[in-house]
Amino acid sequence: MNVLITGGMGYIGSHTCVEMLEAGLTPIIIDNLCNARSEVLNRIEHLTQQRPVFLEGDVRDEAFLDSVFAQYDIDSVIHFAGLKAVGESVRKPLEYYDNNVNGSLVLTRCMRKAGVTSLVFSSSATVYGDPQSVPITEQDPTGATTNPYGTSKYMVERCLMDLVHAEPEWSITLLRYFNPVGAHPSGLMGEDPQGTPNNLMPFIAQVAVGRREKLSIFGDDYQTKDGTGVRDYIHVLDLADGHIAALQQVGAKPGLHIFNLGTGQGSSVLDMVNAFSQASGKSIAYELCPRRPGDIAKCWASTDKAQRELGWKAKRSVTEMTADTWRWQSNNPQGY
Ligand code: NAD
Ligand code: UDP
Repeated sequence: MNVLITGGMGYIGSHTCVEMLEAGLTPIIIDNLCNARSEVLNRIEHLTQQRPVFLEGDVRDEAFLDSVFAQYDIDSVIHFAGLKAVGESVRKPLEYYDNNVNGSLVLTRCMRKAGVTSLVFSSSATVYGDPQSVPITEQDPTGATTNPYGTSKYMVERCLMDLVHAEPEWSITLLRYFNPVGAHPSGLMGEDPQGTPNNLMPFIAQVAVGRREKLSIFGDDYQTKDGTGVRDYIHVLDLADGHIAALQQVGAKPGLHIFNLGTGQGSSVLDMVNAFSQASGKSIAYELCPRRPGDIAKCWASTDKAQRELGWKAKRSVTEMTADTWRWQSNNPQGY
């Protein structure tokens, strides 16, 4: 099966390519390298003994996409490409809507021209906003987003829902990721944020490796077990496997398919600091700071639907997530 992977050089896309190659699927990567390094391709090859096709280009470039669909016999598309920094999206909303929303529209238009109607979209738990209750199920309300990044994901979801309503031959799968963390256990691939990390795990890893002095913990007065925010951290390889399960179980079934990809377990910021400290043998300096605007107290997934309909369940523990992140970070202190 040939699967076009937009954003396949990025963090989640690259791990998904490795898992796909190992499962006998053929990824064809397109990426404009705005947030990735070409070295990723060498690492994929090193791990799998196979070098996937990589075409440098932008998902908003219709002529480029047309040429890709003309050249390769694509069965399905996984659409990872997009911008993902919440804070930056507040400062640059037009760039976020252009890349995330317009990029998805150009992609689906080119897919339709090429007669490719199977799409898996990288959505996010952020579409649920501040949940009324946890665990969050796929039926819970969406749309009360708190920043342009989240709104762009919600808007793409709505566009794709309307598309499949109008053209029922499409198979559209919306995967709502919770908090992807971790790295390939080889230590060869991992998350390589440019500049100061926005997310908790890469920040902790950079403190442990000595690139940053201390972690700022955003809020210790939430209604949670220790006052810090609680999230559903999921190992990036489990997430990658969730995409393969989605392709295999529903990728050929016309209709709309929506799944949470999480573990169903919540961990606090302090849980993650302690787990990382154990994994790395380093103490993680931190200070308690005010809440970060737009953050919610707690969020974790109901995983029943994915388990029932995809036969998929996250397998890797927080201990593995932190150990694998540490192996990646300590082997590659400056990233790729
Ligand atoms: P990433 O930035 O590592 O990967 C995205 C890739 O897309 C990068 O390689 C980048 O160069 C490429 N890209 C961006 N815009 C492009 C464009 N217009 N044309 C072609 N390539 C383009 O991010 P990631 O963490 O791997 O996330 C992948 C997807 O999952 C994103 O859509 C993101 O919003 C979504 N997601 C991520 C998280 C997370 O915490 N990492 C959580 C929920 C959802
Ligand atoms: N967080 C923190 N310090 C940081 C980054 C994040 O305390 O430098 C907290 C944040 O407030 C939240 C959790 O860690 O409770 C996860 O944040 P992240 O940005 O990784 O993911 P989010 O759930 O916000 O998408």
